[in-house]
Amino acid sequence: MRVIKQLCTKSDCYKAGKSIEVKGIMLHSVGCPQPKASVFLEKWNKPGVSSCVHGIVEPDGTVYQLLPWNHRGWHGGGASNDTHIGIEMTEPSTIHYTKGAEWIETGNGEITRKHVLATYQTAVTLLAALCEEYHLNPIADGVILSHAEGYQRGIASHHGDVEHIWTRFGLTMEQFRNDVKQRMGKKDSSREKETVSSLRIECYGRLKREMCIREGTSIKEECLTTYKKGAFVEVVSKCENGWLQIRCKESTSGYGYVSNVKSAYVSLGSEVYTVQKGDSLWRIAEDKLGKGIYYTKIKTLNGLTSDILSKGFQLLIP
Ligand SMILES: [Zn+2]
Repeated sequence: MRVIKQLCTKSDCYKAGKSIEVKGIMLHSVGCPQPKASVFLEKWNKPGVSSCVHGIVEPDGTVYQLLPWNHRGWHGGGASNDTHIGIEMTEPSTIHYTKGAEWIETGNGEITRKHVLATYQTAVTLLAALCEEYHLNPIADGVILSHAEGYQRGIASHHGDVEHIWTRFGLTMEQFRNDVKQRMGKKDSSREKETVSSLRIECYGRLKREMCIREGTSIKEECLTTYKKGAFVEVVSKCENGWLQIRCKESTSGYGYVSNVKSAYVSLGSEVYTVQKGDSLWRIAEDKLGKGIYYTKIKTLNGLTSDILSKGFQLLIP
């Protein structure tokens, strides 16, 4: 599991700025065949939207955090908003809703099954971490609830999630609560590295030479992988000792570190631009930097020796 913090700072829910004393966690399923969390992030991170949850779970183990965990969310449509953290699970693209919470399979079932089981596992890990953080007992009455269970208790709106999907795969809330309980206290290597403060991309970088991507900000740290000269990286933050924290898909935490002491190893820029047909350095400079004459800045930053660009070539923009 890796937690990517992308708070929905533009949503009215976030702006309402209320916090809660966390007494439990409510589990939801998005209710549409959409496996990508980014779609919901975009949908919810704007004014005038009446819902926002604390986290969304993707099947590959990624969790997007949209609100501070103890922020009052708008997810349960009832009193549960005052007590429970709301977590959504994404749904596979291979289902089709026919009426209300009823759905049919559109593929051979394999993708759906994999998606549901994988989001279940990620949800177990996430809820175990949250239960630890807020000292919750997952099997105590009313602590972990599905949206549907919340409705039965009169603290949430009339929805069928998550059982509308889970029951077909033999998954139950009771088993889930037990699995969370089992999972608590068990450290796995990815769990320990989860709390990364701000995970928006700060800038982009291009390696000036082949570099080791390490687990921490020292050459004594383990080398997770090697990136070639010219490789682009997404910089999450600049560390005080000159190292850069970058996104790294080869790392279990999703992040790695690369040295840029004395700015020696990575050129930094504000964006990565892919050359289109008919582009020239002058035109790109005009467009991105305001004046064509600034093309020399792009040239220097990218270590170009010629003015000729080929389509598809990627440039770092100052
Ligand atoms: Zn729900």
